[in-house]
Amino acid sequence: MSANQGLTLALSKGRIFEETLPLLRAAGIEVLEDPETSRKLILPTNREGVRVVLVRASDVPTYVQYGGADLGVAGRDVLHEQALAQGGSHGLYQPLDLNIARCRMSVATRADFDYVAAVKQGSRIRVATKYTEIARQHFADKGVHVDLIKLYGSMELAPLTGLADAIVDLVSTGGTLRANKLVEVEQIMDISSRLVVNQAALKLKRDTLRPLIDAFAGAVSA
Ligand code: ATP
Ligand code: MG
Repeated sequence: MSANQGLTLALSKGRIFEETLPLLRAAGIEVLEDPETSRKLILPTNREGVRVVLVRASDVPTYVQYGGADLGVAGRDVLHEQALAQGGSHGLYQPLDLNIARCRMSVATRADFDYVAAVKQGSRIRVATKYTEIARQHFADKGVHVDLIKLYGSMELAPLTGLADAIVDLVSTGGTLRANKLVEVEQIMDISSRLVVNQAALKLKRDTLRPLIDAFAGAVSA
């Protein structure tokens, strides 16, 4: 395949896929299959040579960084976590905040855990999270001593079972926290999804990529 042929876009199923569709549409691209009903991992589009690959949210930066995809859409949570894990940056061109899949990264505890007092007293706090790098940096900046426990999902369960005092997780409406009787005690950062582009592809496929990035930019500010 020559360098100028084809464009591969990496997306994760769910929120990011759904909220990227209108942006693709603005760029004249229609995805021809629905990932919720299709079992395919490579989805064709109406544009010859443009395809969508479905990967785990946390795998999007990896696909784009190593050229498995030319571009992708990834949350700031995932991008920041992986940049910290790789010592600061990951050679991904990030031309656009797409302003989709918006939420925030927060600290939450059981309602009967006095977080403010624990911080004030300099207590050691047990924190469960999928985002250990972001959590490590956040608590280090605050001068709070933490024991971090790495989890891969269902973070809300950790304070309820006594596994941890607190969690660091994404919150949008707060509904999941409320349903599990947890309270948001601190906001760490605002999250939205960004467009990420492979550096080599940006040069080699500039003629295809540039109009696409511009169409996305137009649709975001519209
Ligand atoms: P993986 O499938 O890789 O384990 P996941 O299932 O935890 O990831 P999702 O919940 O599908 O990931 O979220 C994917 C992305 O969507 C996150 O990285 C984040 O940027 C965004 N996101 C997650 N939760 C919310 C939320 N409550 N509101 C808005 N955006 C969210
Ligand atoms: Mg998922």
